[in-house]
Amino acid sequence: MAAQNLRIPGPVPMPDAVRAALANQMINHRGSEFKLLLSDVRARLAGIFATQNEILCFTSSGTGGLEAATVNLFSPGDRALMVTGGVFGDRAITIAQTFGIQVTKLEHSWGTAASPAALRDALRANPDIKLVYLTHNETSTGVTNPISKLTQVIHEESAALILVDSVSGLGALPFETDAWGIDVVVTGSQKAFGCPPGMSMISVSPKAWDAVARSKMPRFYWDFQRMREAHSEGSTPYTPAVTVFFGLSAALELMDQEGNEARFARHVRAGDLVRHGVLDMGLGLFADPPYNSNIVTAITLPEGISPQTVREELRARYNTVIAGGLGKLKDSVVRIGHVGFFTQEDLTKTLEQLDTVVKRLKR
Ligand SMILES: *Cc1c(COP(=O)(O)O)cnc(C)c1O
Repeated sequence: MAAQNLRIPGPVPMPDAVRAALANQMINHRGSEFKLLLSDVRARLAGIFATQNEILCFTSSGTGGLEAATVNLFSPGDRALMVTGGVFGDRAITIAQTFGIQVTKLEHSWGTAASPAALRDALRANPDIKLVYLTHNETSTGVTNPISKLTQVIHEESAALILVDSVSGLGALPFETDAWGIDVVVTGSQKAFGCPPGMSMISVSPKAWDAVARSKMPRFYWDFQRMREAHSEGSTPYTPAVTVFFGLSAALELMDQEGNEARFARHVRAGDLVRHGVLDMGLGLFADPPYNSNIVTAITLPEGISPQTVREELRARYNTVIAGGLGKLKDSVVRIGHVGFFTQEDLTKTLEQLDTVVKRLKR
């Protein structure tokens, strides 16, 4: 299969060092090699999360991590305030409701960011909530929420637990788990980490561990306590995605070499480059400034040009793959991912191709 020019917001192209690591022969997942691998990966991850909290590694996509957080933190009937402005916020709400959580939704319109003032009002109106849920980077709309401002309001108004979905943000966008006082953060292997899908990494604060101990939700595979005990012995309760660990170890090495600040700056430059390119070619940005995401750009097209056609043309002419819209944005936007390991040329090439395709379709 010819390598695609894959420009979606995850999974993303893997660096050579990650691809090489994935070719390693299998090892005993209960042996000393895996023990070392797990402790190395968890220690490096703590640096990316900016936390002293424990990191758990589950074999699953990001959604599994969010379900894991749900079944470990709540008991049926508990109340949550869940902030949403897109497909992924809505999905987290659906997960919670599936498990009998009473959800108060705080919605902001798609393309805008969550408002700290609206959050303050909602917290005052709902003093008995157990947890507040936030989406760091709403990948469906191309919005990055102001997490530090939102968590500051939560700390001022409430003692609720804070759960953040940073599946697409962590590792690419500034994020401070401990400084911002976030109890549980969920991320995944296939976005900023440039690895295959298959692992969800979750940080759990001491306050969250207290909630886990009290939670009465039935759970088995997702049980945090079981995972913590196994991790403390350098293992996992069930067979882990050993190969994804190989890849993640190589990716974290590259991420450490580049450094957090340089990596964040590279994503800022990518966001600027793509947004300017989009506006220069006469297309529109779906998300409102200044909260445009630096890892994905949702692009609106001229009247009469369909996202599906643009994507098909890019694929047919250049083997370039960009993402379509999700949910109600299916027929109105295309999205270019700029997360993980990419070069500026990868993005300028994709923008030039998009420009050519749109101009041809306009004629
Ligand atoms: C990708 C993503 C997820 C998880 O998706 P999976 O396909 O389950 O890995 C969750 N939230 C956000 C914001 C995402 O971008």
